[in-house]
Amino acid sequence: MGTRHTAHTAWCAHDHRCSLAEHRAEPITIRTPGAGSAVLTRVRTSNGTQYAEVRLSITLPRDDAHARQRLAALLTHLRTLIGPAPRAAVGCARKDNRP
Ligand SMILES: [Zn+2]
Repeated sequence: MGTRHTAHTAWCAHDHRCSLAEHRAEPITIRTPGAGSAVLTRVRTSNGTQYAEVRLSITLPRDDAHARQRLAALLTHLRTLIGPAPRAAVGCARKDNRP
Protein backbone atom coordinates (compact mmCIF):
# COMPACT_ATOMS: atom_id res chain seq x y z
CA MET A 1 0.00 0.00 0.00
CA GLY A 2 1.69 3.19 -1.18
CA THR A 3 1.32 6.76 -0.12
CA ARG A 4 -1.33 8.66 -2.01
CA HIS A 5 -1.60 12.38 -2.46
CA THR A 6 -4.44 14.00 -0.57
CA ALA A 7 -6.15 17.27 -1.47
CA HIS A 8 -4.56 20.46 -0.27
CA THR A 9 -5.94 21.96 2.94
CA ALA A 10 -7.44 25.44 3.32
CA TRP A 11 -4.27 26.55 5.12
CA CYS A 12 -1.37 24.77 3.34
CA ALA A 13 1.00 26.47 0.91
CA HIS A 14 -0.44 24.72 -2.21
CA ASP A 15 3.05 24.55 -3.76
CA HIS A 16 6.36 22.64 -3.64
CA ARG A 17 6.31 22.67 0.17
CA CYS A 18 3.50 20.08 0.06
CA SER A 19 4.52 16.52 -0.81
CA LEU A 20 3.08 13.01 -0.94
CA ALA A 21 3.75 12.67 2.76
CA GLU A 22 2.51 15.99 4.13
CA HIS A 23 0.93 19.40 3.63
CA ARG A 24 2.83 22.40 4.97
CA ALA A 25 1.68 25.94 5.64
CA GLU A 26 3.63 29.08 4.82
CA PRO A 27 6.06 29.46 7.78
CA ILE A 28 5.46 32.36 10.16
CA THR A 29 8.60 34.06 11.49
CA ILE A 30 8.82 36.27 14.55
CA ARG A 31 12.08 38.00 15.39
CA THR A 32 13.24 40.17 18.27
CA PRO A 33 16.61 41.79 17.45
CA GLY A 34 19.24 40.76 19.97
CA ALA A 35 16.97 38.21 21.65
CA GLY A 36 16.14 35.59 19.02
CA SER A 37 13.65 34.33 16.50
CA ALA A 38 11.06 31.63 15.98
CA VAL A 39 9.74 30.04 12.79
CA LEU A 40 6.37 28.26 13.11
CA THR A 41 4.97 25.95 10.42
CA ARG A 42 1.67 24.01 10.53
CA VAL A 43 2.00 20.51 9.07
CA ARG A 44 -0.51 17.70 8.34
CA THR A 45 0.83 14.23 7.60
CA SER A 46 -0.72 11.80 5.12
CA ASN A 47 -2.48 9.96 7.98
CA GLY A 48 -4.18 13.17 9.15
CA THR A 49 -1.98 13.91 12.15
CA GLN A 50 -1.27 17.62 12.50
CA TYR A 51 1.64 19.22 14.31
CA ALA A 52 3.36 22.56 14.72
CA GLU A 53 6.98 22.56 13.59
CA VAL A 54 8.92 25.19 15.53
CA ARG A 55 12.50 26.32 15.01
CA LEU A 56 13.79 28.54 17.82
CA SER A 57 16.94 30.59 17.98
CA ILE A 58 17.37 32.22 21.37
CA THR A 59 20.34 34.37 22.34
CA LEU A 60 22.03 33.12 25.51
CA PRO A 61 23.80 35.31 28.09
CA ARG A 62 27.60 35.31 27.77
CA ASP A 63 27.95 34.28 31.41
CA ASP A 64 27.81 30.49 31.58
CA ALA A 65 25.77 30.32 34.79
CA HIS A 66 23.15 32.65 33.34
CA ALA A 67 23.18 30.75 30.05
CA ARG A 68 22.47 27.53 31.95
CA GLN A 69 19.62 29.23 33.83
CA ARG A 70 18.10 30.36 30.53
CA LEU A 71 18.45 26.84 29.08
CA ALA A 72 16.82 25.29 32.16
CA ALA A 73 13.89 27.72 31.90
CA LEU A 74 13.59 26.97 28.21
CA LEU A 75 13.49 23.21 28.84
CA THR A 76 10.77 23.69 31.46
CA HIS A 77 8.61 25.67 29.07
CA LEU A 78 9.19 23.24 26.20
CA ARG A 79 8.23 20.28 28.41
CA THR A 80 5.00 22.08 29.27
CA LEU A 81 4.24 22.68 25.60
CA ILE A 82 5.05 19.09 24.58
CA GLY A 83 3.32 17.50 27.57
CA PRO A 84 0.79 14.68 27.18
CA ALA A 85 -2.00 15.42 24.69
CA PRO A 86 -5.36 16.37 26.25
CA ARG A 87 -7.60 13.32 26.68
CA ALA A 88 -10.22 14.70 24.29
CA ALA A 89 -7.65 15.12 21.50
CA VAL A 90 -6.35 11.57 21.96
CA GLY A 91 -9.90 10.19 21.96
CA CYS A 92 -10.76 11.78 18.60
CA ALA A 93 -8.81 9.16 16.68
CA ARG A 94 -10.49 6.24 18.51
CA LYS A 95 -14.19 6.86 18.90
CA ASP A 96 -14.73 3.33 20.19
CA ASN A 97 -12.45 3.96 23.16
CA ARG A 98 -14.90 4.90 25.91
CA PRO A 99 -13.75 6.14 29.30
ZN1 LIG B 1 -0.96 21.16 0.42
